Amino acid sequence: SKEISGNSFHFFRSGMDNRTLESIKFENALYKALDRDELIIYYQPQINSRTGDIIGVEALLRWNHPTEGFISPADFIPIAEETGLIVPIGEWVLRNACKQVKAWHDRGYPLISVSVNLSVRQFEENNLFQVIRNILEETGLEPQFLHLELTENQIIKNTEATLKTMELLKKLGINIAIDDFGTGYSSLGYLKDLPISTLKIDKSFVEDVMTDKDNAAITNTIIALAQNLHLNVIAEGVETKEQADFLSSRNCYLMQGYFFSRPLKAEDVVRQYFYSEN
Ligand code: C2E
Ligand code: CA
Ligand code: CA
Ligand code: CA
Repeated sequence: SKEISGNSFHFFRSGMDNRTLESIKFENALYKALDRDELIIYYQPQINSRTGDIIGVEALLRWNHPTEGFISPADFIPIAEETGLIVPIGEWVLRNACKQVKAWHDRGYPLISVSVNLSVRQFEENNLFQVIRNILEETGLEPQFLHLELTENQIIKNTEATLKTMELLKKLGINIAIDDFGTGYSSLGYLKDLPISTLKIDKSFVEDVMTDKDNAAITNTIIALAQNLHLNVIAEGVETKEQADFLSSRNCYLMQGYFFSRPLKAEDVVRQYFYSEN
């Protein structure tokens, strides 16, 4: 991705012969990354464009590799999912993101929410609900401030057990959002049966919304769909004022993207959002 260009990871570039060896090294390094404090959570502000207020942050994982530098989650999450490492890593993200936001609340900063990405692998563990309930108890974060993001394609794979877990989470007061909405291959029928509260418009639509009529139409339709189903809607990947104005004019006020802020270290969220005069 853009913010780490020039410093990306090359394990998989080294030719087919070395591929197996390299991927074993990669897995091994990832396995140790948690213990070695090489994983860091960045937080990207989510803004209400009507007021300019920060309303939440999305927790986005980074791997600060000792020799390779920052590695994008797009490069290591798929391997973490294949190997099952996403289960302990995902739990670590949940615990630390909840702890961080609770600490902010305790210091009197705005009562913002935190959105955490969940992998379908985490739903395949039969204790996900207990894990999340324990993390909330342990950190003291109130459930309404925890938002979980699941992609449409993950939800399609849902089983009875996934649905049951989602219902329990919702009953506890947690918000569930569908990430990358509009990019999946499902029918829309599932929306009325699932305990979700938010649609997140994928950045691929937002990106071209000013120049591509089809993307504008899709974005308009997603916003209208959310409004008609009484769901919240948030747009990701907002990079320009024109895109923000387009969304605001359609009554989609919740936004996230480089136009407002890149993902930040926790201390920079504090510095830029909780102390700034603006
Ligand atoms: P995502 O959930 O769709 O996250 C949004 C991605 O868009 C993030 O990339 C973010 O940095 C990037 N982004 C934000 N604003 C803009 C913008 O204005 N323009 C553009 N072009 N991009 C923007 P990132 O941080 O590289 O994460 C990539 C993906 O990795 C995430 O996509 C998510 O699927 C996954 N991921 C990240 N952290 C976690 C995690 O803790 N657990 C799991 N399971 N997946 C994670
Ligand atoms: Ca997300
Ligand atoms: Ca997304
Ligand atoms: Ca995505």
